[in-house]
Amino acid sequence: MTRPAAAAQVGGVTHPDSATPHSLNVVKDRHRVVVIGAGFGGLALARRLRDAPVDVVVIDANNFHTFQPLLYQVATAGLGADDIAYPVRGIFRRQRNVTFRMARVTSVDVDARTVHLNSGGPLHYDTLVIAAGAVSNSFGVTGVDEHAFPLKSVEDAVALRNHVLAKFETAAAAPNAVEPGALSVVVCGGGPTGVEMAGGLIELFEHVLAKDFKQLDVRHAQVILVEMGERLLGTFAPKSGLRALRTLTRRGVEVITGTGIQSIDAVAVRLTDGRRIDAHTVVWAAGVQASPLAAATGLPLTRGGRIIVGPDLSVPGHPEIYAIGDIAADGTTPLPQVAQPAIQGGRHVARQIERSLAGQPTETFTYHDKGSMATIGRHDAVAEFANGRRLSGPLGWLAWLGLHIVYLMGFRNRLNVLLNWAWNYVTYDRSARLLGADDVDADDRMSELP
Ligand SMILES: Cc1cc2nc3c(=O)[nH]c(=O)nc-3n(C[C@H](O)[C@H](O)[C@H](O)COP(=O)(O)OP(=O)(O)OC[C@H]3O[C@@H](n4cnc5c(N)ncnc54)[C@H](O)[C@@H]3O)c2cc1C
Repeated sequence: MTRPAAAAQVGGVTHPDSATPHSLNVVKDRHRVVVIGAGFGGLALARRLRDAPVDVVVIDANNFHTFQPLLYQVATAGLGADDIAYPVRGIFRRQRNVTFRMARVTSVDVDARTVHLNSGGPLHYDTLVIAAGAVSNSFGVTGVDEHAFPLKSVEDAVALRNHVLAKFETAAAAPNAVEPGALSVVVCGGGPTGVEMAGGLIELFEHVLAKDFKQLDVRHAQVILVEMGERLLGTFAPKSGLRALRTLTRRGVEVITGTGIQSIDAVAVRLTDGRRIDAHTVVWAAGVQASPLAAATGLPLTRGGRIIVGPDLSVPGHPEIYAIGDIAADGTTPLPQVAQPAIQGGRHVARQIERSLAGQPTETFTYHDKGSMATIGRHDAVAEFANGRRLSGPLGWLAWLGLHIVYLMGFRNRLNVLLNWAWNYVTYDRSARLLGADDVDADDRMSELP
């Protein structure tokens, strides 16, 4: 029990923006819950409010939900972008109390209880749930913003894939004059994303592009994984990190640990130990920080920039505002920025909104850690469960496959992904590697391609 019921907020509210087309389905005197972000947290919350006496407005800058755990597969041509993204309107088609608004929230006026959008008038809320996630964090390293590829959105993944493919096309035009590092990729960050990316890239190079580009010497195409800590998968058990190191090394990835990134430019990466690695492609998987929206709300932030929430996930002093997932933290022991805290937080807040409406006090959020997983590549993954059980190798991989299919949004996507994986598994082929002239033009780092 953490705060008194907010029953006084319920009912009789006039919505200043009720003339917007998006409020046409909204019964005026119903409690309005505005949710910023259709990610894991926002979706879990809105779905859990299905039978609540509220109108829910979900706002997202994109009109689709992104399944971020499979972004690396899009970046390595294993899956298409639309296999891991799902239209938000489709998700809520049958849920009558949800409307969707595609817009970017630019600020929140907590006194007027309105959110401001990049298009259209302000939107009033009775309860606000901020679930805007995180963005890539360059940690101030020189050249990251200009030269490295982040992996946080579908656009990032597609841009990276196109860049890698375009590098090979360029090299094929003059196979005997391939510049040092032209085909190489440095992956910065040896956490799950970096490990998965490095494993996916080496498979793409060895099993697909080596055959596609017979005239090229694939030894030019190196994958180098750089981790500042002493081992890979630092949040996993040491055994899992060691397994990732051994598997990646055996498959041809060069792994460098205990060294940070000093700077990045268009053709090379400099390490803090003075080494220089020639590479025209750099993937930045070193970490994330809260969405810039956190600062734009004017609400108190942790030192890491996340919105401070109390035990029930509401913002202290603002019982009508909650923050969940990657953008929120309790100020003392921040939860990891992974999907489960966001999903569980979303469900918890939905319950608290219902309790408040029923005049009941809110409850403390308790996070149930279900474990962690990371795939290292073809039929190898590590999976660590909360009960201490650990799976690795093909069994870990099967557990990883099963879990990702279960959490993936939409039947069509699940089927597509399953078929793609089965096809890739049997043939080693990757179908999502089409590259058009426009894709190359869109990649301004590819100016040398005719
Ligand atoms: C490459 C990668 C791999 C990952 N792999 C795993 C994994 O294997 N397992 C795991 O548990 N976690 C994984 N994660 C982390 C996990 O995806 C996140 O922790 C999770 O998505 C957080 O959920 P969320 O609801 O807080 O935010 P998100 O899911 O990021 O959703 C935020 C939403 O808010 C929207 N948004 C942001 N700003 C605004 C704005 N101003 N206005 C309107 N909309 C806005 C965004 O468009 C987005 O749809 C991975 C993340 C990445 C990037």
